[in-house]
Amino acid sequence: MKRKAIYPGSFDPPTNGHLDLIERGSKIFDELIVAILRNPEKDPLFSVNERRQMLESMTGSFDNVSVDTFHGLTVDYALRVEAQAILRGIRAISDYEYELQMALMNRKLQPGLETVFMMPAARYSYLSSRLVREVAQLGGPVDCLVPDLVAQKLREKMEVANKFSGANRSASEPETKAKRAERASEQKAKERKINPRKKKS
Ligand code: ADP
Repeated sequence: MKRKAIYPGSFDPPTNGHLDLIERGSKIFDELIVAILRNPEKDPLFSVNERRQMLESMTGSFDNVSVDTFHGLTVDYALRVEAQAILRGIRAISDYEYELQMALMNRKLQPGLETVFMMPAARYSYLSSRLVREVAQLGGPVDCLVPDLVAQKLREKMEVANKFSGANRSASEPETKAKRAERASEQKAKERKINPRKKKS
C-alpha cells in the first residue's frame, strides 16, 4: 500500500520552513498533498489562489508532492483523499502544546489516522508566516526567509498596500500649518508673475 499523507496549513505565505518540511515529508511518504485550508473566518494576506500558485511553483521539482485546497475538518479531507497520515511541523516547545491537542482531537475524530510530527532544520525553527508578514509589512528584508518568488509577491503586496494608504492619507489628512504657509506663498508668487507691477494700496 502506498503511504500517503496530507500537510495541512494556512501557508500565508509559504516559507522556507514549510519547504523544508515538505522536502522531508516527501522522503518518507510515497505521496504528499500540501493542503491549504480555506478558512472564511481568517483575513489572509494572500488569497487561496495566490498561495496555491506559490506552493505549486515551490514544489514543482518534487514528483510525489501536489497542492490542493480544502475546507472543513482536516480528518474529513484526509479520508476523502485516502491519506493515512497528517504531517505537521514542530519548531519549538511552544508549538507542542497546540499541536498535541490538535493531534489528539483528530485521533478522537478519526482513530485510524496518524499525525506525524517533523522538525525543520534548526535555522528555520524561529520562522513563521506571521513573522514573515510582519517583517515585510515593516519594510524589512525577507529574502532568506522565503523562496524568491514569495519574496517578490510580498514586495508587490506591500507596494500596493503602501500606495493605497498613501492615497488615503493625502485625501483625509488635514492641511498642516507648514503646508498652508507653503501654499499661500506659492499663490503670492503666482499673482506676482501675472501682475508684476501691481502696487500695494
Ligand atoms: P496553521 O495555521 O495550520 O498553523 P501554518 O501555515 O502556520 O498553518 O503552518 C502549517 C504547519 O507547518 C504547522 O504544522 C506548522 O507547525 C508548520 N510550520 C510552520 N512554519 C514552520 C517552520 N518554520 N518549520 C517547520 N514547520 C513549520
